[in-house]
Amino acid sequence: MKDWPETFDLAVVGGGNAALCAAITAAEAGASVLILEGAPQPYRGGNSRHTRNFRCMHKGPMFPLTDSYEEDEYLHDLMLVTKGKTDEGLARLAIRSSEECLPWMMAHGVRFQPSLSGTLSLSRTNAFFLGGGKALVNAYYNTAEDLGVKVAYEAQVRHVHREGDRITHLEAEIAGQPVTVKARAFVLASGGFQADIDWLARAWGPAARNFLIRGTPYNRGVVLRDMLDQGAESVGDPTQCHAVAIDGRAPKYDGGIVTRLDCVPFSIVLNTNGERFYNEGEDVWPKRYAIWGRLVAAQPDQVGFALIDAKSIDLFMPSVFPPVKADTIEELADKMGLDPQAVRATVDGFNAACRPGKFHPTELDGLATEGLEVPKTNWARPLDTPPYYGYQLRPGVTFTYLGLKVDARAQVHSAEGPIRNLWAAGEIMAGSILGQGYLAGFGMTIGTVFGRIAGKEAAAHVA
Ligand SMILES: Cc1cc2nc3c(=O)[nH]c(=O)nc-3n(C[C@H](O)[C@H](O)[C@H](O)COP(=O)(O)OP(=O)(O)OC[C@H]3O[C@@H](n4cnc5c(N)ncnc54)[C@H](O)[C@@H]3O)c2cc1C
Repeated sequence: MKDWPETFDLAVVGGGNAALCAAITAAEAGASVLILEGAPQPYRGGNSRHTRNFRCMHKGPMFPLTDSYEEDEYLHDLMLVTKGKTDEGLARLAIRSSEECLPWMMAHGVRFQPSLSGTLSLSRTNAFFLGGGKALVNAYYNTAEDLGVKVAYEAQVRHVHREGDRITHLEAEIAGQPVTVKARAFVLASGGFQADIDWLARAWGPAARNFLIRGTPYNRGVVLRDMLDQGAESVGDPTQCHAVAIDGRAPKYDGGIVTRLDCVPFSIVLNTNGERFYNEGEDVWPKRYAIWGRLVAAQPDQVGFALIDAKSIDLFMPSVFPPVKADTIEELADKMGLDPQAVRATVDGFNAACRPGKFHPTELDGLATEGLEVPKTNWARPLDTPPYYGYQLRPGVTFTYLGLKVDARAQVHSAEGPIRNLWAAGEIMAGSILGQGYLAGFGMTIGTVFGRIAGKEAAAHVA
């Protein structure tokens, strides 16, 4: 195995948002930094390149955010989705620090735009990146390179070598060649393990083989597994992840945001037996979209079918694929591979349970069904206006939550205490805050906050 020619102050594993925030912060503090990005250059940036926004606390209007979104409300929203399964200290740290992230991001090349309209109405809570995550990642790479940060692409880290309370070196394969990388400090920002379908199947059972992975195929948890095998403290449950319902025609990996389907609140969603199985109108979509991946995963063959009529087809952001279209419910069912009679019976039962009232697509309108075993408690309007449309839904895994437990300094620990020159940021430690559930935009907040902390701590350690 060859040695990498230079010894750096800091080696950062991963090339997404968390890695870049750590690398930039450390380089600004005077550290020499090497980024090891497992992907080839055109695919650099992991899941971060698919993102659109981050969730940001702010005490008053702050471009591009409107109004205010303060710590207690943010924490309350997080507590609701995680059902209290969070480390409140770390959660408050992420929330409070998010406010200073926005100007920091702008100062490092990220541009923002006013919130997109559509079903996710987030202009008050989430700051949208102009050009999306791809532009953000490109801006950070430019900034990092201007600061002298070196980047190795196709650099798959296989082993993080621990001796007692220190990491001595990394073993990697860089463009197919085995290489040893020495550094004085290390930041792990290599994401979750969602792209390793075998690992998902061990956690979830064989159903996981039908899951689609929304993001990068490079987040296979190699470094996470290696650290857990070496006694790093872990947090989170391997079956917990962020998973949404996406278009069933999405590719196995990297379909990105354009395959997400936001139609559920305006649909009825059936399983392969043609039966509804959950309240499609439980809450506004930003608070519910993250549960539908798991709901669909629990259905036969891990598939669902959203049915919509002409009244509602323009009320949500469509998938990149056109919906199946038909003039009758039976024809639609047939085209989607469902039993037309079973679907007709479900639609008839649903339509009969709808009540008159005022429909309001962007608020909880209380327009509910009456007398159904599986109610729809908002936006319940009969499916009676042709043409009818359908989308097949499949679970799309965004990222897994089993990760490395960190403290408020982003430091990784073993049972014997802190590993003195090792920090973690982003998805690889997100389970420290996200025990379950998800709040839109919080992944980038965690990565930005803990990436910056990890970079600062690592630079202070080597100084
Ligand atoms: C379609 C989609 C849309 C999303 N939208 C949003 C959004 O709008 N807002 C939001 O907050 N969150 C969003 N998320 C979640 C968000 O992407 C993540 O929370 C965030 O990007 C995580 O950043 P990260 O740096 O930890 O991981 P990543 O950006 O995934 O980076 C991990 C990096 O590690 C590299 N890597 C993996 N293994 C190795 C290895 N062994 N050796 C070397 N390198 C390795 C990968 O190549 C990658 O570069 C979205 C995710 C997806 C998939």
